[in-house]
Amino acid sequence: MGELRQAYTRCPVCRYVFRAPSPRPYVTIGRESDLCPKFPGRVSDAARLITNELTMCPACAFATAGTFEDLDLTFDERHDIEERLKEDGLLRVFRTSPPPWLAFHSAEVCGKDRGLRARDLGDLCLRASWVCRKEREHPFESTFQLRAIRYFIRALEEDGLVGRELSVTAYLIGELNRRLGNHREALNWFVNAERTIEEEGLAWLERLISQQSKLAKEQAA
Ligand SMILES: [Zn+2]
Repeated sequence: MGELRQAYTRCPVCRYVFRAPSPRPYVTIGRESDLCPKFPGRVSDAARLITNELTMCPACAFATAGTFEDLDLTFDERHDIEERLKEDGLLRVFRTSPPPWLAFHSAEVCGKDRGLRARDLGDLCLRASWVCRKEREHPFESTFQLRAIRYFIRALEEDGLVGRELSVTAYLIGELNRRLGNHREALNWFVNAERTIEEEGLAWLERLISQQSKLAKEQAA
């Protein structure tokens, strides 16, 4: 869990220059059943490590996965994003003392404008739900799980997912539904996920599906 390297970065939307921690690979000790990484050490560090995968401008709240490097926005995109950020309700409420999950919400808002795939928008919401869980923000955790499910279902319809990405996405829809208490829905998605597995090397996912199906069945009873 090395110390953070900081570098100056310029916001591609408002041009503000600030010091941003650069994302670093982290050490994990396995994953939870919704693929949330488990870290050695303190839980508060865990939320910070997940959040460090994003960069958010402290001036206008523009956010993205990774860094601002190589981000080239057109004049129109910048304008649209600026407007969208100003109008967003959650950003308005939480901007002055931003909770750790806010960067993910902002990256989702900006990602919609930048035409990110539904799968990637869903991933931002999934990660936001992990941060909320680490921070014990349960109502927000559920909100983001629900949003992740919606994006993942849209991804199955629109993104042309194949192979591992398809199977993992279908599984996650099941697991997030299970966590939200929709056990029958979860069971259907676990069956769907299992049907999509064709390639080698997904034994871990097959194990996870059968384990979580068993759990959902018990909970549905
Ligand atoms: Zn900015």
